[in-house]
Amino acid sequence: MTVAVVLFTSDLRLHDHPPLRAALRAADEVVPLFVRDPAVDAAGFAAPNRRAFLADCLADLDAGLRRRGGRLVVRSGPVAREVAAVVADCGADQVHMSAGVSRYAHRREEELSRELEARGAALHVHDGVVTVVAPGTLTPAGSDHFAVFTPYFRRWTGITPRDPLSAPRAVRVPEAARGEEVPSRGAVADVSPGIPRGGETEGRKRLARWTRSGVADYAGLHDDLAGDATSRLSPYLHFGALSPVEVVRRASGHGGPGAEAFVRQLCWRDFHHQVLAARPSASTRDYRTRHDQWRTPEEAAGDIAAWREGRTGYPLVDAAMRQLRHEGWMHNRARLLTASFLAKTLYVDWRVGARHFLDLLVDGDLANNQMNWQWVAGTGTDTRPHRVLNPVVQGKRFDPRGAYVRRWVPELREVDPRRVHEPWRLPEDERAALDYPAPVVDLGAALDRFRHARGRD
Ligand code: FAD
Repeated sequence: MTVAVVLFTSDLRLHDHPPLRAALRAADEVVPLFVRDPAVDAAGFAAPNRRAFLADCLADLDAGLRRRGGRLVVRSGPVAREVAAVVADCGADQVHMSAGVSRYAHRREEELSRELEARGAALHVHDGVVTVVAPGTLTPAGSDHFAVFTPYFRRWTGITPRDPLSAPRAVRVPEAARGEEVPSRGAVADVSPGIPRGGETEGRKRLARWTRSGVADYAGLHDDLAGDATSRLSPYLHFGALSPVEVVRRASGHGGPGAEAFVRQLCWRDFHHQVLAARPSASTRDYRTRHDQWRTPEEAAGDIAAWREGRTGYPLVDAAMRQLRHEGWMHNRARLLTASFLAKTLYVDWRVGARHFLDLLVDGDLANNQMNWQWVAGTGTDTRPHRVLNPVVQGKRFDPRGAYVRRWVPELREVDPRRVHEPWRLPEDERAALDYPAPVVDLGAALDRFRHARGRD
């Protein structure tokens, strides 16, 4: 009897799972294993919203495996030690897992490889599971990764993604595989009230709905803040409850400008992953330094608190920050604006903002979050690193009737939609009657400060 272990990480699904398929092909019995690593908690990455979503994903994975005669084995402890214990208990000779991109993922693979080698078992790390195109597959002349999106996109569209794999029919798990109870969402405290249900089953339902009735209009509507017409698949992609290969294949099948614009966004995801895979230090260090002397946290304490709480006095920024707190999610347009507002208008270190996003986002993802924050701050891959987004201009453009602002900032619900992005322009008596703060900063003065800091004045 041969036994293989499949270590689930950012790929919590049964459909299109190359490591699972390879393990089932290679062995008579397979241990589907998930390890809760205390190092993730210690690094502050196990935020309540993601822990709740993760619990849903694990419960759904366990249910899917049970329908196939198996079960999910969950253990807690350092990953290499736990995997080695399962290998020893079950007499496994191989472990399969998906390749990751972060520093943590690289270290995990190295430790695991060493630990397994010492026990005579092999580690198989599968590429192209977490992204459509594996990091490092596409490279420009003279570099190990693309630093500019457009040429990457051109090469990326030239690759036809593989056919997605079906889910297995049956999984036989050895008796000797011991684990703990699968965690439940109910046990997680301080979860935002509006986060979605996690899991592959829910993700597949949403994907089916999206390809049936959402993607066709994506090109025209994806920037409409109030319309909320994006897929909202990001948490399912982050946890791997959906396969990015399958999402691209199903969306592409629809054709048309909507599908094209949507698939381009998945290329952005791959792009950021290949940057981080090549430069893992970019999760904490400037990818391209601009020699910023950010305001100190003490100096900017009041502004940072106002930004986090959605009380900056700039309605679009405040609406977005409140949506983040309530739903653990924010529209891409709003992410761009709130990040620009913190890093450029308030001139606060992008790491402060990225940390806050990671504390709340259900889709909070090291590659996408840190590299997008760097992109907005101008320390990353943006080819126009010093541009600053104006919250009033952005509001009039992407929320022209003020419906998004009035949804999230109840203090402004009764304000004339034409004035909602500039409440300070209201007649004095109307303004005074609102329980809404004055702007934390003058936009003109802030722009001068930023340009001066970047040597652009
Ligand atoms: P859709 O518009 O439907 O796009 C489909 C998918 O494409 C998304 O689910 C996502 O996986 C991917 N995608 C879309 N835009 C981007 C992008 N700019 N970069 C990378 N991938 C993209 N996305 C995350 O998944 N996790 C994060 O932690 C994250 N942090 C961000 C922080 C900032 C400051 C900014 C500007 C963007 C961030 N994004 C992040 C990217 C983007 O905002 C979200 O992926 C998107 O809003 C999710 O909503 P959706 O699923 O409806 O997207």
